[in-house]
Amino acid sequence: MRWDAQALNAQAVDAEALNAETPRTGTQAPDGQTAPLPAPALLPLAGLVRSVTTPEFAGVTFHEVTAKSVLNKVAAGSRMPFEWTINPYRGCSHACVYCFARKTHTYLDFDAGLDFDSQVVVKVNAAEVLRRELAKPSWQRHQVALGTNTDPYQRAEGRYQLMPGIIRALADSGTPLSILTKGTLLARDIPLLKHAATQVPVGVGISLAMTDEQLSEAVEPGTPGPRARLKLISRLREAGLPCGVMAMPILPWLSDSDEALDSLFGSLAAAGATGVSAGALYLKPGTREWFMQWIAREHPQLAGKYRRLYGGGSYASKEYRAWLAGRVRFFKARHGFIGSTGFSHEDIDQDPRDEEARYPAGSLPGSARIRHGRGTAGSVGHSGTGESAAEPVAAQPTLF
Ligand code: SF4
Repeated sequence: MRWDAQALNAQAVDAEALNAETPRTGTQAPDGQTAPLPAPALLPLAGLVRSVTTPEFAGVTFHEVTAKSVLNKVAAGSRMPFEWTINPYRGCSHACVYCFARKTHTYLDFDAGLDFDSQVVVKVNAAEVLRRELAKPSWQRHQVALGTNTDPYQRAEGRYQLMPGIIRALADSGTPLSILTKGTLLARDIPLLKHAATQVPVGVGISLAMTDEQLSEAVEPGTPGPRARLKLISRLREAGLPCGVMAMPILPWLSDSDEALDSLFGSLAAAGATGVSAGALYLKPGTREWFMQWIAREHPQLAGKYRRLYGGGSYASKEYRAWLAGRVRFFKARHGFIGSTGFSHEDIDQDPRDEEARYPAGSLPGSARIRHGRGTAGSVGHSGTGESAAEPVAAQPTLF
């Protein structure tokens, strides 16, 4: 068993084997305190084999579990463009302050804040169980999406290496797949994905909503930064794989200026992204509290504005969303993007107890279903040419 020497209460280190993807900062609470090393987990996690810590993942505990099943059926009536998902990890050390999968961690008796970032459940037998499930005569080979709830290429994947087995199992069974991630560790699996694309439709999406490195480091501290993700998009395109981008969330007053949007869409076009969907920050319960604490600490002058803009709900005002959709359309056109693509791992929860597990109408302005074709899944028309629109720059609504 991996990390045998690092089980809690026996914290030896296997640094060489750890993921090379280094986070820019450690897990931080919104009050600015670095997360303390967690106490040994004594939670009644189903299938828990053991809990592991290591200094290379300071403050993070991995709970290795054996899963009975890894294929999740999306709730009936969902607006998501796929029926099945796999989440090899629960919780995510990418630690995005705005992550709206946070609430799902409470179903495991963890909290939606620091625990989501630092108590990561790892389904160590995911590939093996998946092969069994895919071999059932009843399996109809519908598309399976990875990255719908938490990031499958978060840092732990460098160590646990669950994704290669999952990709192989899906492709070998003739099941189309799509992946959404912020993790540059995906580059490791490009050859495998290229091969899989000769067997089944394969879609790849990168989540990137800002080019400001400093802002990214503050709001998504465990992720590879924007430059690294842009490089990943280029590598995917060079490998002949399509690469859509989820430009969500656009953060009011922080990443929604014309300069920021121009830089974002221009950079995505230059990197060769095949499509992009963009939308405003969505603050569902569990995320809202965490994000508002962060805003109050990092940008206290914006705290009141955010409160008024969201009015205690999950969505920015209709007026703001309409304004942002217009700016997005303008800058997409300027940089040659047509239409939109994809889905977001921030945009769906898998737990049936969550009534908001359904893709919330209007939460993804302009988004469209992924349309698969062999080797082109997830792509939409990006002409790559800067179709310059002459629309004058609109002023932000004055409401806020
Ligand atoms: S938004 Fe995605 S990458 Fe960020 S913490 Fe959530 S699941 Fe991880």
